Amino acid sequence: MVEKHKVLIMRCESYDVEKIAGIIKEGMEKLNAIPSGNILLKPNVVMAHKEFFPHAFTRPEFVDGVITATKEMAKDVKEISVGERSGITIPTRYNFKQAGYPEVIKKHGVKTYYFDEVKHVPFKFEKDVNLRKNMFFPKPIVDCDFLINLPKFKAHPWTRLTLSLKNFIGIQDDKHRLVDHNSFLEHKIADLQEVIQPKFIAIDGIIAGQKMMLTPTPFDMGAIVMGTNSCAVDTVCAHMVNVDPNDVIHLKLTAERGFGPINLEEITVLGDFPLEEMQKKTRDFQFCMEHIDSYFDTSPNLSCTVGTFPEKHSPDYCWGGCPGSLQESMHIFRAFYPEIEKEMGKVRYVVGKVEGPLNLEKNERVIFAGDCTSWEGKIDGEHVKIENAYKTTSEVDEKKAKSNDLQKKIISATLHGLFNKKRYIHMKGCPTSVAQHVNYLSSMAKIPNINFDSRLVFGVNTSYYRMRFNRFFNHLLR
Ligand code: SF4
Repeated sequence: MVEKHKVLIMRCESYDVEKIAGIIKEGMEKLNAIPSGNILLKPNVVMAHKEFFPHAFTRPEFVDGVITATKEMAKDVKEISVGERSGITIPTRYNFKQAGYPEVIKKHGVKTYYFDEVKHVPFKFEKDVNLRKNMFFPKPIVDCDFLINLPKFKAHPWTRLTLSLKNFIGIQDDKHRLVDHNSFLEHKIADLQEVIQPKFIAIDGIIAGQKMMLTPTPFDMGAIVMGTNSCAVDTVCAHMVNVDPNDVIHLKLTAERGFGPINLEEITVLGDFPLEEMQKKTRDFQFCMEHIDSYFDTSPNLSCTVGTFPEKHSPDYCWGGCPGSLQESMHIFRAFYPEIEKEMGKVRYVVGKVEGPLNLEKNERVIFAGDCTSWEGKIDGEHVKIENAYKTTSEVDEKKAKSNDLQKKIISATLHGLFNKKRYIHMKGCPTSVAQHVNYLSSMAKIPNINFDSRLVFGVNTSYYRMRFNRFFNHLLR
């Protein structure tokens, strides 16, 4: 008889390093997960800032506890390291600092890999289901013997949940990360599992995140979830918040490829926090899987016109692309300037293939978002034609992927906004990123640009130039 995958749900009410270390050690013992060789810890630090993004990342106390347990349990260690690539093009070293990681890393004398600074190497894919034949990954990922995956338990506005499988989006640098980060995002997450599988997973669910991924609303979950198979762990986590695992599309796709179970009957759930008790506790756990036209329906100055989309598997919406970036960017604006939606100028956001008049209000400006967007009509008496420039997956060459460099994007978007004298603008790309949205919204809605906010500008730019220098240096060495 095939042995069932084991998943542990353990109680943990606070970020007490000693307690976390004890729980992780117990988990490693029960799951017989003994780290060895090149051991790489992959947390979720998509974004970190004590004031603006306090709940977006795996907490440093959690990482501290896991390193403590790893050191006690590991055998034949060659190296212990912590590696990650943050989101929205912000340098990872900036977010690590904001998250309080350098102190933990120094305390334990382990290595750091900022995946935006290390060399990326190609990895070949061979299955028909794979989106492409090659993808690029940081060398430390490909070289590691024992990957410890440390996601933050969060809802996600594009993929419903971000857990063990989704945390792999952070193993690629921006240049490659944004390739297929559109309606194929769920397929891409499934592909990423083929590169490497974690040998131990510990999810930081002590304070979980609801609704958004960058600016989640905290939820006092009080749990650590552990396992050795991503599908099994994500299946149990979905049940923990009363979600049918089949509604987490990347989990369904990954399970279909034989990477693990999606049925609870195939998993042994252990630990001191019964699943049923957790399900009662999370009855009101909140998600945000709303289309942007209804999501911003009550916003006084932002409205959305959503058309149709090019791919057959998702013609009515593009989960994973531009619409989600709009939501996240507006949440970032709200975090910095709580009254922004009242203060901003009127903006219409148009995405997808849209037909018919836009019926714009006086002074309402228009952002046409993304390469797949098309529209033809009159604005201020002028004939306007926005043409679809969407490329299918096979037309996008991952070897020629654009850099998505933070400074380049800020400069080009700022100049585009500055020289645009019209009431409308076309923000190009597939996807258009959260960072692009921040820039275009700022120029079209006449609101402050967060990229130039004094609370961010010095730290982010210092980290950016250090990142550029180290990336250059690392590429020379190898
Ligand atoms: S341009 Fe944006 S909305 Fe259109 S397919 Fe690409 S990511 Fe999706």
